[in-house]
Amino acid sequence: MKSEGEGPVSVTGSRNGGAGVLYIVATPIGNLNDLSPRAAAILSRVDVVAAEDTRHSGRLLQHLGLQKRLVALHDHNERDRASGILDELERGHSVALISDAGTPLISDPGYVLVREARGRGLTVTPIPGPCALVTALSAAGLPTDRFLFVGFLPAKRTGRRAALESLREEAATLVFYESPHRILDAVGDIATVLGETREIVLGRELTKTFETFYSGTVAEVRSALEADPHGAKGEFVVMIRGAEPLDHDEAAGALDLDRLIRLLLPELPVKKVAKVAAELSGRSKNDLYQRALELKQG
Ligand code: SAM
Repeated sequence: MKSEGEGPVSVTGSRNGGAGVLYIVATPIGNLNDLSPRAAAILSRVDVVAAEDTRHSGRLLQHLGLQKRLVALHDHNERDRASGILDELERGHSVALISDAGTPLISDPGYVLVREARGRGLTVTPIPGPCALVTALSAAGLPTDRFLFVGFLPAKRTGRRAALESLREEAATLVFYESPHRILDAVGDIATVLGETREIVLGRELTKTFETFYSGTVAEVRSALEADPHGAKGEFVVMIRGAEPLDHDEAAGALDLDRLIRLLLPELPVKKVAKVAAELSGRSKNDLYQRALELKQG
């Protein structure tokens, strides 16, 4: 293992032709003790800290006893700001990119900056640390050999349901970020589209005082969340067990069901189509009603 001094930590290192290094520094997602010593060392030695919210990050730097030149880099100004930061790196200054919490670029700004820095041949060095999705997955008890991180689901119901629909047959564990004011709606839509019996785990307020894991079927977790007075407060990672692989007969059945719905749609109202398809297949009328609506809308 390398010690802190052995890694590519030189600020104007010869490996970089005199240009500064862009460090991508992970910061805590709630518990300040999770900031790594290496992250603290890098933050103390860089010339500039690029942060999503300079006030928020100012408090982290203050906690570390550091006074740094801070520049704001967020979703709305990343394209404009990136070129100034790249010029600064080329002049030999070192820059640390941090976000409000966790690992930059993971549902956070920084992609444009990193892409362009690499395009200009500059050194980009990751300083790993907390990341809500990995933190949540590591303790959820769901399969982690394959997972699909989907970021935030769309805010509006129609978009959210369509996004879930496109993932219905996905076999990998699904991972989403969700905000507290949408969590109940999101879990409701997961029940509608993926079914009430899928296994789901919610990681809430991870690494913080009120860290909670809710796990069970979608129906059970929804009830637990509704019953908990603190349930819909705080930040959430949503993890859902992937779809069971369909065997050949089931797959053929699923295809036939779509075909049946398509055949019935010109003849009957959507509600009746769902009723007939449910009777023939034994599947939930609500699910088939949703499916019939989707097929009808093309
Ligand atoms: N870059 C961050 C990372 O590495 O995880 C994620 C930033 S994203 C804008 C913020 C979302 O991450 C929150 O809405 C929530 O879904 C999730 N998150 C962040 N901190 C969390 C925590 N302590 N507990 C649960 N979820 C968290």
